[in-house]
Amino acid sequence: MENLIVGCGVSGATMARLLAEAGERVTIIDSKNHIGGNVYDYYQDGICVHKYGTHIFHTSNKEVWDFVSRFCQWYPYQHKVRGLIDGQIVPIPFNLNTLHALFPKTLADKIEQKLLDNFGLNKKVPILELRKKDDEDLQFLAQYIYDKIFLEYTLKQWGQTPDEIDPSVSGRVPVYVSRDDRYFQDKYQGIPIGGYTAMIKNMLNHPNIRVKLKTPFSKDMKYDRLFWSGSIDEFFDYKHGKLPYRSERFEFITFPFSKFQDAAVVNYPCNYEFTRIGEYKYFLNDQSDKTIVSYEYPEPFEDGKNERYYPIANEKNAELYQMYLKMAGTCGNVFFFGRLGDYKYYDMDKAIARSIELFKEI
Ligand code: UDP
Repeated sequence: MENLIVGCGVSGATMARLLAEAGERVTIIDSKNHIGGNVYDYYQDGICVHKYGTHIFHTSNKEVWDFVSRFCQWYPYQHKVRGLIDGQIVPIPFNLNTLHALFPKTLADKIEQKLLDNFGLNKKVPILELRKKDDEDLQFLAQYIYDKIFLEYTLKQWGQTPDEIDPSVSGRVPVYVSRDDRYFQDKYQGIPIGGYTAMIKNMLNHPNIRVKLKTPFSKDMKYDRLFWSGSIDEFFDYKHGKLPYRSERFEFITFPFSKFQDAAVVNYPCNYEFTRIGEYKYFLNDQSDKTIVSYEYPEPFEDGKNERYYPIANEKNAELYQMYLKMAGTCGNVFFFGRLGDYKYYDMDKAIARSIELFKEI
C-alpha cells in the first residue's frame, strides 16, 4: 500500500516511522525546505537555535517517551521561566517563591497560609479558578496575578483577554502552590542532544520512508492512504471558511558576549510588544562566547505571510472545525492529525501520542 503523509513535523514523522516499521511504504512531503515542521532547529556559533521558538520536550506518557527515546539521547534539561513583574525578574508560573519575591513578608506569609489552607501544597490552580475564591486576600492575589501576568500577555498573544479565550489556554500556566520553580512537573523532560532536527532525521531514516521537501501537496498525487497533518480547512479548499490561527514573528539577535539573561525564557507580560525572550544556549548547555536570543512578537496568521502556530480555541472555531470534521468523515482513505489537522493546541508529546493512537486505529 502507498502511504502519503503531508507534513514533516513531529506528527508526520511519527506516523511515517510507525507505518514504515509495520512494513508499509511511505512518502512524506513538506512544502518547506527542511524537515521537522515547527520544531526545526539548526546550529549557529555552536548554539542550537529553534527556528520557530523555544521547544521543550516534556511528557508523563511513558509510551511516548520510550518511542522518542529510540531516536535521540536526552540532555536532562528542566525548564524554568522567569517573568518581569513590577520591575523584578521572578519565577513563572506564579508560585510561592514568586509570592515572596513580590510582596512584603507579613503579607506573603498570610497569603501563603491561605493558599495552603484552601488548596494544599503542590496544588495547581488555574487563574480563572483562583478569581472565583470568596476570600479578600485570595481575591487580591488573583486580581494581581491576572493583571500583571495574564491580561496583557494574553492580549498580545491572542488579541483577547483570558476571560474571552478558552479557559484551557490560561490553565496551561496555573498558579502553583509550591516552591518548585520548574515550568513543567512531568516525569520525563529533556532536550534531544544534537537538536530536534537530528531526532526527526533519525525517525525518518528507514528504508521504507522517502522524504520529499519543497513539495506542496497536489490533487494529482497518487496514494492508497493519505495522512494529512496540514490545516484541515486547506484540504477542503476552505469550503466553509478559514480556520483562524495565531502566528509569531521572531526577531533573532546574536550578541558578542556569552550571556544575555538568567533563564532560557523570560516573559514580559507588560510594557513591551514582545511576549518573551528565549536564549538558546541554555537548552543543551552549549558553550560559546556568543549568545543567540529571540524576541517573540505574536500576530494573526495570514496565508503566505507567516506560519500557522496556534489554533484558537473558542466556540465559533470549534463549530467551524466540526463542519470540516464531518467532511473528513466522508473520505475513507484520508486521515487528519497533528496540531493543524485536528485543530488542537497539542504539545509535542500530545502530537506524538495522537499519531500513535491513529496508527493503532487504522
Ligand atoms: N500566559 C500569560 N502570561 C505568561 C505565561 C502564559 O498570560 O507569563 C498565558 C497566555 O495566554 C499563553 C498561555 O498562558 O498563551 C499559555 O502559555 P504557554 O507558555 O503554555 O504557551 P506556549 O509556550 O505554548 O506559547
